[in-house]
Amino acid sequence: MTSARATPPPLRDPLLTITRHGLYLPQADLHLDARTAPGAVFVSHAHADHCSYASRILCTPETAALHHARRGHRASIDVPLDTPVRVADADITLLSAGHALGSAMLVARSAQGTVAYTGDYKLRPNPFTPPVRIPRCDVLVMECTFGEPRYRFPPDEDLIARLQHFVADTLAAGATPVVLAYALGKGQEALYHLTSAGFDVVLHGAIARMCEIHERLGYTFPGPGRWERYRRDEVGERVLLTIPATRKTGMVESLRTKRIVYLTGWAYHPGAFNIYKGCDLVLPLSDHADFEELVRTAKESGATRIYTVHGPPSFSHHLRSIGLDATHLAAHPQDAGQEDESSDCGPADQLGLAL
Ligand SMILES: [Zn+2]
Repeated sequence: MTSARATPPPLRDPLLTITRHGLYLPQADLHLDARTAPGAVFVSHAHADHCSYASRILCTPETAALHHARRGHRASIDVPLDTPVRVADADITLLSAGHALGSAMLVARSAQGTVAYTGDYKLRPNPFTPPVRIPRCDVLVMECTFGEPRYRFPPDEDLIARLQHFVADTLAAGATPVVLAYALGKGQEALYHLTSAGFDVVLHGAIARMCEIHERLGYTFPGPGRWERYRRDEVGERVLLTIPATRKTGMVESLRTKRIVYLTGWAYHPGAFNIYKGCDLVLPLSDHADFEELVRTAKESGATRIYTVHGPPSFSHHLRSIGLDATHLAAHPQDAGQEDESSDCGPADQLGLAL
């Protein structure tokens, strides 16, 4: 039997190396989403498993604000989207990644060629990010979280309509709609689509804290619905939008009559029936690219070398089967020791619930 943890061959690419801290761009002297590293670390977005303990980070101003709230203040090189800057021997540009407020892809151009790193991303619209465009590059480093054909999501507008109908029907039946979504990204997208449909919402503190930072940065939530932070026993005839970790706590269980909807791309996981047992509805409303978007990204990037991270190795096999040069980097150090605090980026915490 072949071990899934067999040591991969060393990476030999002039534009990308792996140090003991993780992925590293030598021309820009930058680590990518490294937990810690000497020098500067590019932080693609402020989800817990991408935040860094490095002393200096490079990111968008929005990610810096969210990152400071989660990790405390640290020196940051703030680079707005679509604004080229010189970093070491490379010209760096950050592009919208559509994953959460401030999320960015990184494109580094140097005499050796152009490398692009997607971080977590989706091509579908996000009300808190500019539209996403696929970077053209020689080398593409891409996440492939949903890199299996089963993860083809319906159009977001259909899923949003189903969410709004579920909430309306639940309220009409005299019960409390409970919407489960992670604190940053999905929480704000869900709130946006609820308040704009006229629903009043109470928010778990972790989501409310991120929403307050959104508003401070000028990203507001549309009416006519209103939102406020949850206070015990004061949900009333409103929606409770909370984080998945509260599903089995008094906050949710003490509600007399309720119906629960869980928002996650893992709805299509083969173990979803067990993972989300007790939920009335699981909608694959995701902040990640689905299988089709991933394939499209790989093709349209024009990259002659593609490296995949954070997903199944089978995705790189698929890319090779359609004629692309793809390698899965299974040994990304960041893949070890995932944090569970509001990590939107993997199913590990969810799979641990019931499988
Ligand atoms: Zn993420």
